Formats: sequence, structure tokens, C-alpha cells
Amino acid sequence: MQLIDGKALAASLLEEVAEGTRALAASSGITPGLAVILVGEDPASEIYVRRKLVQVAAAGMASFEHRLPATTTQAELLALIGRLNRDAAVHGILVQLPLPPHIQPAPVLDGIDPAKDVDGFHPVNVGRLSTGGDALVPCTPLGCIRLLDTVIDAYKGLKAVVIGKSNIVGKPLALLLLERECTVTVCHIHTRDLPGIVRTADIVVVAAGSPGLLRGAWVKPGAVVIDVGINRIAGPDGRARIVGDAVIAELDHAGSVTPVPGGVGPMTIACLLSNTLSAAQKAAAARRSAA
Ligand code: NAD
Repeated sequence: MQLIDGKALAASLLEEVAEGTRALAASSGITPGLAVILVGEDPASEIYVRRKLVQVAAAGMASFEHRLPATTTQAELLALIGRLNRDAAVHGILVQLPLPPHIQPAPVLDGIDPAKDVDGFHPVNVGRLSTGGDALVPCTPLGCIRLLDTVIDAYKGLKAVVIGKSNIVGKPLALLLLERECTVTVCHIHTRDLPGIVRTADIVVVAAGSPGLLRGAWVKPGAVVIDVGINRIAGPDGRARIVGDAVIAELDHAGSVTPVPGGVGPMTIACLLSNTLSAAQKAAAARRSAA
């Protein structure tokens, strides 16, 4: 079994993004800008936002941080998004989830200009992805595909099983695999005979948030396993550690496997920056054609 090094791949993608950022600034004077909105004080969200902002700066992009109190109303949040939609220095807008319970996520995400929707959650981008159009694609599934690209030459006809059907991971990833002509099965908590379905797969993606779910005996020899899960559990010494959804110690017979940590996680942030650069490049092209 070969481990797929997500850290190394993310580092090279971030290098490419930094290079693209320099080239865009030189050719158009535009610096890609990412606005990040954090509502409330969720500690995990604080960590995610901090990590994203560090990478944005490292890539030479501009960041616009908006920290709002947990008491912010939906109308106030939508008003801020409206201002960012009109701000030419902002090419990407990210609203860190989860939002406080009194704010509905759907109208907030729908309020983002689809051209600045670097998380790829707006219905216009979801629709474009499902029809094979030019979409901003959610960052985690995009990272999974880039990781798969390092070990798969020809997707056509491969059997792919995706465990998890969320809007942010499972569903968009299934569409990306379908677009590559895989035969895709999407499984979830109510799927019957999950082991039997997984045993047929050349590619297994597990995104369930359930540690220890994917057992070695379910995985066909030589199959590629992408483990999206991030689970905090107590280790044997009582200290918290992060594990995925797969039992990696049982996967010696697999072809390639992403470790957790160091697999999908680093790729997610790198793909966010890559989406921000794409959005800025499109804005520059639109400005050129309007001139
Ligand atoms: P979610 O809770 O929205 O969806 C989980 C899906 O898994 C659901 O469709 C559910 O039916 C299915 N599921 C849960 N338990 C199952 C089981 N026992 N058998 C079969 N299916 C089962 O979660 P999500 O937001 O898609 O995230 C999934 C996991 O991926 C979480 O651990 C999350 O932390 C992680 N994640 C990682 C990244 C990253 O950057 N690496 C990004 C997003 C999510």
C-alpha cells in the first residue's frame, strides 16, 4: 500500500497558486482578495479561519477579515455580503460554517455572488457542477480529485463508492467522479449491505465522520481509498488525537490510501486558494473584455 502525501501535494499547489497570483498582478494589477466572515466564537471555526488566513497571506493574496458577534442578525450578515459582492477588491467570499442557530445558512450562502462563491455552495455553482458547466467546485471534493489524479491515470469505467451524501463533500464528489465516467454509488447511514457495496469498488471515498467505519475486509485488493473523515478521539494515553473514518492498519492490501492527518485536510485549504485565484483571473478577463 502506498500513502498519498496530501501535505506535499498541497504545498506544490500552494506554490502554483502563489506563482499564478504574481503573474496576475504583473499582467493586470489585480491582487486576488478573499473575504472571510466569522460569526460568533466557535473555537474550531477560529482555528480554521486562522489557518486559512495564514495561507492566503503566504500566497501573496489580500485578505479581508470580518469577525461579527454571535448576536449578528441575518439581515446584518446579508448586508455585509451585499457590500462584499460589490467590492471590486474582493474576488472570493467565505462564510465560515456553522452559523449561530438563529441564522439560516441557505439564504446567506444564496446571497453570495456566484462568481465570488469560492466554497462552491451557491445553487448556481451546484447546478453548473451537475450539468458539467464551468463551476466553482467545493474545496474538499476538489482536493480529493487532485489526490486521486496522482494515482489514477484513467477513470473511465472504474467503480467508485462514496460513503456520505453531504452537500459539501459526498454529493459534489460523486458528480466529479461521474463527470470522469466512473460508475458511482453514493452510500449513507441507511445504505443496506455497505461492506458488500464497498467490496466492488476500485475507488472508495469515505466521508462519514465515523471513526473506524471503513474496515480492511471491505476493501478490494489494489483499491484506492480516500479518507475524508476528521474525528477527534482519545488515544491510548488519554490524549486527544485526530483519526479518519478508515482503519488504516487494516489497509495493507489497498493500492493507495490518504492518511489522516496529512491527506485530504491540507488539500482543502489549498483548493480554497486555487478557487480564489480562478475567481480573480475571471474577474480580470471580464474587465479586459469590457474595456
Ligand atoms: P455530514 O455529517 O454532513 O454527512 C455525513 C454523511 O455520512 C451522511 O450522508 C451520513 O448519512 C453518512 N454516514 C454517517 N455515518 C455513516 C455510517 N455509519 N455508515 C454510512 N454512512 C454514514 O458530514 P460532512 O460534512 O460531509 O463531513 C464528513 C466527514 O468529513 C467529517 O468527519 C468531517 O469532519 C470531515 N470533513 C473533512 C474535511 C477536510 O478538509 N478533510 C472537510 C469537510 C468535512
